[in-house]
Amino acid sequence: MRKILHIDMDCFYAAIEVRDDPSLRGKPVAVGGLSRGVLTTANYEARKFGCRSAMPTFKALQFCPDLVVRPTRFDAYKEESKKIVRIFHQYTELVEPLSLDEAYLDVSHHGEGGSVVASRIRAQIEREIGLTASAGIAPNKLLAKIASDWNKPDGQFEIKTGEIEEFLEHLPVTRLHGVGRKTAEKLCALEVRTCGDLQCLSKIELAEQFGSWGLELYLLCRGRDERPVKVDRIRKSVSSETTLQENVADLVVLGEIMEELRRRVLETVLGKHADRVIKSLVIKLKFSDFTTTTAEGAPHPMKRGGGAELGMDVTRYRKLLAEAWGRGEGKSVRLIGVGVRFADLEGRDQLRLNL
Ligand SMILES: [Mg+2]
Repeated sequence: MRKILHIDMDCFYAAIEVRDDPSLRGKPVAVGGLSRGVLTTANYEARKFGCRSAMPTFKALQFCPDLVVRPTRFDAYKEESKKIVRIFHQYTELVEPLSLDEAYLDVSHHGEGGSVVASRIRAQIEREIGLTASAGIAPNKLLAKIASDWNKPDGQFEIKTGEIEEFLEHLPVTRLHGVGRKTAEKLCALEVRTCGDLQCLSKIELAEQFGSWGLELYLLCRGRDERPVKVDRIRKSVSSETTLQENVADLVVLGEIMEELRRRVLETVLGKHADRVIKSLVIKLKFSDFTTTTAEGAPHPMKRGGGAELGMDVTRYRKLLAEAWGRGEGKSVRLIGVGVRFADLEGRDQLRLNL
């Protein structure tokens, strides 16, 4: 039986700012770019006003005029992140960082129960670093990640093997990894709101509705996930793709779908990889005859304060889309993907994300 932890720091960047400047305590605080920028993190006081990560700063200030916006200090956050990972390694060698503030730990071989290990790690982080973390404990990564969100902030939650079925029964499908607004709307039309509802759909029905994503949903809603905790995994890219319900042979329509996917990728980049440098933008198309093509190009040059939003410029993506589309010579498209590739960690200073 596997014991997997997902540990997630509570509004990490903002929490570091508050810890380092006690005059901010109790105030709504966010970290991000000022004039044309977006927020990377907002603390809970700011979230009460509706401020969220990836929200343009000017908009956040409309929601919350007293919001204190601090510039990002990635070097400081990275320092804290290293200390936290060192704490993780005192409990297990199997640590898979997902970003600066989040990691999976496999503690299957630890003598104590997963819940005990999680609370000891959280207590040690608070004692030594002065920040709070939340933890999820479960037999796999999928459930551990959902569980870490359950008693956030500064809490933990365990899903035991015998409790999985009951837990999923009433769990909204939107809690599943990868289920965004579009999938949720489609499921809602099928009167599916919870994982319990989703379990009533057969593999065939799901494949008909969602293609290969449907088969993934079949496993996700049953809490099945065999992925191992991978040590030292560093993301090389982030992407989002969708299999179209019907093949599309219209560049304008493809452009609209592309824009939705681009927004999704941008949100992930800002939320989890804001410290990485974007090396290139990628568009992938699969045509009706199942041939695939990929168009890749440089991001928009980042200016100070521009950040990922500018780097992932929509005009650049449109150009790549047109390029990939042209290679199909009129064939219709069945799948479209949008992504970014990151520079190696060594190359950070070439095109820094200025958030
Ligand atoms: Mg976090």
